Amino acid sequence: SYDQHESPTVPHHIHPTPVLKLTDKLPSSCNILIAGGGIIGQSVAYHLSELNVQNIVLIEKAKLASGSTWQGSGQVTQLQKTLVETHFTKYSRELYERLHKEGHDIGFIEKGSLWVAQTSDRLHTLKRQYSTTKALGIDCEILTHEKLREKVPIIDPHEVWGGLWLPNDFMVDPVPLALTFAQLAIAKGVKIIEDCYVEEILTEKQRTGQSDRVTGAVTSQGHIKCDVFINCTGMWARELGFQTSPSVRIPTQACEYICLKTKPIANFPTSIPTVHNPEERFYIQPLADHSVLIGGFLRQSKPIFSNGVPDTFHFSLLPDNWDDFHWILSNTIKRFPILAESECETLITGADSFTPDGRLIMNESAEIDNYFVASGSNGHGIALAGGVGKYIAELIHNGNTNLSTWPVDIRRFMRLHTNKRFLQDRLREIPGKQYSLKYPTYGMSLYRTGRKLRVSALHPKLQGAGAAYGEVLGYERPLFFKPDEAGKKDFEDLSKQGTFGKARWFNTVKKEYNACRKGVAVIDMTSFTKYEL
Ligand SMILES: Cc1cc2nc3c(=O)[nH]c(=O)nc-3n(C[C@H](O)[C@H](O)[C@H](O)COP(=O)(O)OP(=O)(O)OC[C@H]3O[C@@H](n4cnc5c(N)ncnc54)[C@H](O)[C@@H]3O)c2cc1C
Repeated sequence: SYDQHESPTVPHHIHPTPVLKLTDKLPSSCNILIAGGGIIGQSVAYHLSELNVQNIVLIEKAKLASGSTWQGSGQVTQLQKTLVETHFTKYSRELYERLHKEGHDIGFIEKGSLWVAQTSDRLHTLKRQYSTTKALGIDCEILTHEKLREKVPIIDPHEVWGGLWLPNDFMVDPVPLALTFAQLAIAKGVKIIEDCYVEEILTEKQRTGQSDRVTGAVTSQGHIKCDVFINCTGMWARELGFQTSPSVRIPTQACEYICLKTKPIANFPTSIPTVHNPEERFYIQPLADHSVLIGGFLRQSKPIFSNGVPDTFHFSLLPDNWDDFHWILSNTIKRFPILAESECETLITGADSFTPDGRLIMNESAEIDNYFVASGSNGHGIALAGGVGKYIAELIHNGNTNLSTWPVDIRRFMRLHTNKRFLQDRLREIPGKQYSLKYPTYGMSLYRTGRKLRVSALHPKLQGAGAAYGEVLGYERPLFFKPDEAGKKDFEDLSKQGTFGKARWFNTVKKEYNACRKGVAVIDMTSFTKYEL
């Protein structure tokens, strides 16, 4: 019974979970096999069944929703990192609202969310996000300082410049929502089996020049034939990717995600929306039982499970991490002094799967035909699940979708991105990056971590000449050459030099540009793509 595993964030007794008719025995064959019964796997199963795809089997290693989904606090903001992810959350909203209106008790509460700006660059970032979000048809508004205080009278207004208001952001209860997907999928014939896990994916060779193709899987309950396999195993996805030949590169890494639930606070105004304060790295989410959830991400995060996610990590949490969380908590209390009087009910040190660029990983793998992936939701899986399910299902059923999903396509990564040491290094930076200012980066990634994966033979020479580097697909690529000894230190750390205005390197690049136009230039093209004709 799921009642034994009441979520630490959203108690299920408020929204009882549906009773499911699960399948006991693994069938010998199916059309589509889904591994992973978290919210993503269940949404994929639901959407495939809605397209009348027959003969689908979902297998879950432990109990449905017992991985990250059980830990989720169900906050859905439509403000996402990429346009495609914003499309996904917009669709999720339409879907979850429809399920709610059809009478499914998924804890749908629409209170909106508010992003606070404490600097002019943050306000600029929010205004840019406003224009792209609005263009997608999502209701949003830039608030002045005064209007923001009307919405959130309990905020300390010191240094608050204004904010971005998304009135249709909402909350759901993740476990009942996920199990509603399962219930509806089962009603359409999907077979769901718990306590069964995929050990290996079997493939066969095709004609020369073609990739191998999925033929079936070895599971803890025996063999099953299948035409299509979908890896929805969240934090476990990378390791499962290695259990096939050739292996499939899925660079996901588990990282800590901490939040705290207070005891109910009698005088806490219930009309307050979810408030995100990126400068102070926290959010508060008032819950239905008058308690408040406080969460956030520090600049430096904690990748975990360097030797793989333990088999027993189901309905589980990590040891309390007060050392990190006290920063988030003290910032929150300074901004919302009313919380100083509240009592802590639980500290939830949970885990989710994150990716080297903070974007989802989905679509068909480059290595094996009919091997699909939908994992790595970077702390937003509840919000993204509807959209991910819809577009993966359409891709499998129709062979394409009406939305370009390239920014989240699995083929953007190379094998070197699944390297354990690289992931442990890069993922220190990723969770906290969701609060960073969205300065233009001109197509370069300026990460501080996981660098120098690939360098050209000329690297030491160019570095000696003062090259300032960006990174593309693991390659270090010179962006420009720092002027001279005196000016060099101004350019030391490019990742700290973002601006919406004229960049510090502008005149340097102008000089180089003119030199190329008027003279002769030699450029190291090692990191650029080349086509063999
Ligand atoms: C504390 C916390 C708060 C959060 N709050 C929010 C929030 O407010 N909003 C939001 O959008 N997101 C939130 N998230 C993130 C969200 O919960 C996750 O992104 C989401 O649940 C991921 O879903 P999933 O299906 O990818 O993974 P999971 O739920 O982890 O599911 C993967 C499943 O795969 C199974 N599995 C693994 N290996 C195998 C195998 N070999 N064979 C079969 N099955 C296998 C596992 O048992 C597991 O059940 C939060 C996360 C945490 C930790």
